[in-house]
Amino acid sequence: MVKLRIDGKEIEAKEGTMLIEAAREVGAVIPSLCYNEELPPYGACRLCLVEVKRGKQSRITTSCNYPVMEGIEVSTTSEKVLKYRRINMELIFARCPNSETIKEMAREMGIEKPRFSLKDDDCILCGLCVRACKEVVGVSAISFVNRGTNRWVATPFFDHSAVCIGCGSCAYVCPTQCIGMEDVGTIRRFRKWNTEFKLKECKVCGYPFAPEFQLEFMRKKANLPKDYLDTCPNCRP
Ligand code: SF4
Ligand code: SF4
Repeated sequence: MVKLRIDGKEIEAKEGTMLIEAAREVGAVIPSLCYNEELPPYGACRLCLVEVKRGKQSRITTSCNYPVMEGIEVSTTSEKVLKYRRINMELIFARCPNSETIKEMAREMGIEKPRFSLKDDDCILCGLCVRACKEVVGVSAISFVNRGTNRWVATPFFDHSAVCIGCGSCAYVCPTQCIGMEDVGTIRRFRKWNTEFKLKECKVCGYPFAPEFQLEFMRKKANLPKDYLDTCPNCRP
């Protein structure tokens, strides 16, 4: 365990804990869009900034990828922290001015309109979808392409990815809900990945419950019998 102070409170935290977790544990409100405790931190949205004092040195840093350390003093609400978070929020808001999630977060920070020139994007490049696909699903069907202002998340060659299993994990973690997954009848579509999958109909109740491709992927991975995933979770004994 290490001892540190967060917003004046002395706390103990397990070594390896990230500051964002330790601070939220003691009631600090730290905004973030790209942090998900199930995935490796990435520090992309830069909304979780905090000020860390170590001896005589002080620095502003992202708290999602900064581990707790003995003796440090952390401020989650210093003037500098609030100023830089606000600038980062304005930049994100200017990139995605029509996202309801972003609009609401910006409003909570007192921003009604960003000062920067507006774009018309819906992706904040947080990388959550890429990390979930790689680290949780284990297939790497999507990745970042290009650099700078032309950076996107996409499938290889912007075409149907041969390894995408249609599981939807990317859509579930996306903070701006911009992947556009929808199940219509027996088809699952992904607007952003320009792809669709046939859903398996449960052999008992007929409900289309998961993409056939995903079920086959899971069946092979777990070495299950051929008909094991023919029934939906509700009808499975
Ligand atoms: S739906 Fe495709 S791209 Fe999205 S997480 Fe699953 S495998 Fe990856
Ligand atoms: S599509 Fe969504 S999850 Fe992926 S980088 Fe963009 S905002 Fe993040």
